[in-house]
Amino acid sequence: MPLTLYVDGDRWRAHLRKVADSHPGIVPVAKGNGYGFGVGRLARRAGWLGRDLMAVGTYAEAPEALSRFDGDVLVLSPWRPFEGGEDDPRLIHTVGRAEDLAELAQRARPRVLLEALTSMRRHGFTAEQLAVVDANAVHIEGLALHLPMAGDRLAEAERWLGSRPDLPGMARVFVSHLDDQELAVLQDRHPDLQFRPRIGTALWLGDREALRARATVVDVHPVSRGERIGYRQRRLPRSGHVLVVSGGTAHGIGLEAPTSGTSIRQRAVSVARGGLDATGLALSPFTVAGRKRWFVEPPHMQVSLLFLPADTVVPRVGDEIQVDVRFTTTTFDRVEIG
Ligand SMILES: *Cc1c(COP(=O)(O)O)cnc(C)c1O
Repeated sequence: MPLTLYVDGDRWRAHLRKVADSHPGIVPVAKGNGYGFGVGRLARRAGWLGRDLMAVGTYAEAPEALSRFDGDVLVLSPWRPFEGGEDDPRLIHTVGRAEDLAELAQRARPRVLLEALTSMRRHGFTAEQLAVVDANAVHIEGLALHLPMAGDRLAEAERWLGSRPDLPGMARVFVSHLDDQELAVLQDRHPDLQFRPRIGTALWLGDREALRARATVVDVHPVSRGERIGYRQRRLPRSGHVLVVSGGTAHGIGLEAPTSGTSIRQRAVSVARGGLDATGLALSPFTVAGRKRWFVEPPHMQVSLLFLPADTVVPRVGDEIQVDVRFTTTTFDRVEIG
C-alpha cells in the first residue's frame, strides 16, 4: 500500500550529469529527508557522479553519508561543543564562532570551513571576527558563504571576498544559492579563487518531469448523503464513494511548511487551492479521474480518506493515483528508479 516515488532513471541521471558537468566544483547537498530520495541513496549518487565531497545538513545525518560515500563529508550546521564528530578525518566542519574554533582545535586538528555571517544572519563570523580568527590549530578548507535568496548577492559575495583573512585555504570559497550567472561572474573576476557551489534542489529535483509521486488505493466504500464516517463522524454532504489511499501525515501529506507569504495574490491562490470549500471539506493533493479530490477529514497517519462524487469513475483497490507532493517534506514508502 505504498506511497511511491517513481523516477525515470535515464532522464534523472542525465540531469544529474548535466548539472555536475556544468558546475565543476559542485558539492552535492543531501540532507533532511534526502529530498524525497533518502540521504543514503543520494550519497551513493554523489559517488557515482565522481565527487570528492558532499554535504549533509546535520551531524545526525553524517554517518549515513560516510558509510555510503568514499569522499569527504561537509556538515552544513555549525559545529558546537555538544556535537562531537571531531575525530573523523573525512568530516569537514563548519565553524562560525571563535569559542567553537578554539574548543574544536583542542580536541583534534580539525578540517574546517570558516562561515561568514552573511545578511542571512543565521550563523557565522562577522567580518571583524573573521579578520582576527586564530586558525593555527585547525586545517582551513575554505570560506563558507550562505547567501539569502533575495537581494544583491553578487555585491555581498564580493564584500566577503574582500574581507577574507590572509590564511591558507581561503582561496576556496563554498557558496550557496548563487545562480549560474552570478557564479560565472565571480569566477571570471577572481580566477585565482576556487568556487564550490553547494547545490541540492537544483541537482536532485531540478528535472521534475523525471519524478512522479503516486499513492495506492487501499479501500473503496460506497457512501450515502448524510452518512457519518471517519474519526470525526462527520456527515457527508453528498452520495458517492470514499476512497482510502496510502499517504498520511507520517509521509508528510497534508502538512505544509509555513509559506513565505510574499504577496497577497500568492496567499489568495494558496487559500483557493488548499482552503475549505462551502461544505467544509479541504482540497487534497490527490488526483482521481483528472481532478483534485476533497479530503473527508484531515489525513490519518498512514492513509487519507477522499470523497468521490457519485458521477466519478471509481478506481479499484490496488490502482495508483497521482499525488502532488513537496519532495523535501515527503517520506516515501518506496523509491523506484526505472
Ligand atoms: C540546504 C543548503 C544548501 C542547498 O540548498 P538547495 O536550495 O537545496 O540547493 C546549500 N547551502 C546551505 C548552507 C544549506 O543549508
